[in-house]
Amino acid sequence: VSSLDISSADATVYMNFMKSHCCYDAIPTSCKLVIFDTTLQVKKAFYALVANGLRAAPLWDSKLQRFVGMLTITDFINILHCYYKSPLVQMYELENHKIETWRGDSFKSSKFLFSRLPFPRSLFEAIYSLLKYKIHRLPVIDPESGNVLHILTHKRILKFLHIFVSKPAFMGKQIQELRIGTFRNIATVQQTATLYDALSIFVERRVSALPVVDEQGKVVSLYSRFDVINLAAQKTYNNLDMSMREAVCMRSCFFEGVIKCYPDETLETIIDRIVKAEVHRLVLVDRSDVVKGIISLSDLLQAMVLTPAGDGNFLILFC
Ligand code: ADP
Ligand code: ADP
Ligand code: AMP
Repeated sequence: VSSLDISSADATVYMNFMKSHCCYDAIPTSCKLVIFDTTLQVKKAFYALVANGLRAAPLWDSKLQRFVGMLTITDFINILHCYYKSPLVQMYELENHKIETWRGDSFKSSKFLFSRLPFPRSLFEAIYSLLKYKIHRLPVIDPESGNVLHILTHKRILKFLHIFVSKPAFMGKQIQELRIGTFRNIATVQQTATLYDALSIFVERRVSALPVVDEQGKVVSLYSRFDVINLAAQKTYNNLDMSMREAVCMRSCFFEGVIKCYPDETLETIIDRIVKAEVHRLVLVDRSDVVKGIISLSDLLQAMVLTPAGDGNFLILFC
């Protein structure tokens, strides 16, 4: 994906900043945190996410007396995609499953990824974990009490970096020159496709959002994994046959239109826009609005923080 290809000391500014700050520095002084017991019914858990305006919650196993995983909107998507048949057939599995029965096998095979303070010591290591394991939530755990203090995301980390680090010279370079982002094989969905088609793409491609396009490939809106939680909020998950045009109209709209960028815009402009809009990615388009790429927070953190470190650093940090 991305490479800054900058030979000056400039390239390491962000990396050094992240290595010299710990996760604790980036978490808010106070915040709400909701934790689910694994015996909770899956459906109630998703309603609880909606009711509390949350995107994810750590899972506590009271028999094992430890955290065993996270419940995120991706899990909701996987359940809907797995059990949906038609608007006429009720998804009994969603009604009946507890979190532990739905996730039983996957808990055994996957591990709970978290950041125990003071380990990993730095935000650099937190970014490494988020990108290596391709997850979007990293709980920060107090080593003494074992409590989850906060859930770190790419958004929070980039905002922290944006506020506290003065901009190096390469921020003035154009994004097409820096090649930060994904430019090939972009997963999109036609506005005439069904919502079930979009969920299938989320499951198969594991992308976090889909530009919704017209017949000419021009972007008309954006549908992200986050938007799927609206189906729980509105109790409309029994009709995944609706078109993407309808699905986009039904979500609680945060934005009119799509937050985009152009190849000749500078990295500085792009970071300012993505931080201000508080979104996870921008859609890269040409002047006719045809989709040319995606610039996600993962791409920015990879290029600005991890790539300048080189492979050697990771061996030292993680062996
Ligand atoms: P989303 O983008 O929907 O918030 P993620 O990309 O973070 O979700 O999660 C993808 C999958 O990884 C989900 O099945 C989720 O349960 C799991 N997951 C997310 N964070 C963690 C974590 N810290 N430890 C273990 N599993 C996680
Ligand atoms: P998360 O905080 O879970 O990563 P996202 O940034 O993916 O959430 O999405 C939050 C909301 O912003 C969703 O309603 C989504 O459709 C919208 N959104 C995200 N990215 C864009 C974009 N580039 N253009 C327009 N809307 C967007
Ligand atoms: P994210 O899950 O958004 O943090 O991004 C992880 C990687 O997937 C990044 O390299 C993104 O550029 C890429 N990506 C995100 N959305 C898409 C998409 N719709 N099509 C292709 N790649 C994508």
